[in-house]
Amino acid sequence: CGIVGYVGHKEAYPIVLKGLKRLEYRGYDSAGVALLNGGLKVYKKKGKVAELEESVVGKDLHSNIAIGHTRWATHGEPNDRNAHPHISQSGEIAMIHNGIIENYAQIKRELVAKGYSFKSDTDTEVLLNFIDDIKQHNECSLEEAVRIALKRIVGAYCILLIHKDDPETIIAARKGSPLVIGIGKGEHFLASDASPIIEYTKEVVYVNDYEIAIVRPDELILKNLGNEKQTPFITELDME
Ligand code: GLU
Repeated sequence: CGIVGYVGHKEAYPIVLKGLKRLEYRGYDSAGVALLNGGLKVYKKKGKVAELEESVVGKDLHSNIAIGHTRWATHGEPNDRNAHPHISQSGEIAMIHNGIIENYAQIKRELVAKGYSFKSDTDTEVLLNFIDDIKQHNECSLEEAVRIALKRIVGAYCILLIHKDDPETIIAARKGSPLVIGIGKGEHFLASDASPIIEYTKEVVYVNDYEIAIVRPDELILKNLGNEKQTPFITELDME
């Protein structure tokens, strides 16, 4: 339901957590974050963002990259297991997702036949392991695996992914579910609407359907599913 991401030079967790609170008005049943701190770390919980916050007290959350999610369950009941982020079977990729993957059942059957097993009942984990499988099989970049996977996806999505070996990059994509990217100085903010971003920057890019964003502290690349670079259209947020 709600999506937040940060990559830059600041502590990412507090920014993402605050962003999730800004998105609470949309309604949700669970919340979670993924960050990179000596490997991929995922913390997620059924219930309020405040409960997620309490559950991580005492943990070392230092990271300059993080993605966070508030879930409104469509596939799989609201519980800790079905909360996002999900981690791929290889353990390499974490992903959050807004929307619905309509053809997940067919893809899930194919992945199960290949030996994949699933930790949740979500359509999201199916898309994630589909990306994971393409990446392992083609030995390609995460960006390329996402592009190949999305060509087969029917449904609506806004997705954010991070890879355990790349603390500088968030890969994002959308179709039918909104995604805004805020441009800072040596940092980028991602969210499903502008409310988590306005306090940091006025300069934003609204990502179009069927675009993939490669987001790094000093770089924002947009591509279409044909791997052609698109020029990001920067607009100013109306502060009112
Ligand atoms: N379909 C996904 C799920 O049920 C995402 C729901 C959402 O948009 O929050 O987990």
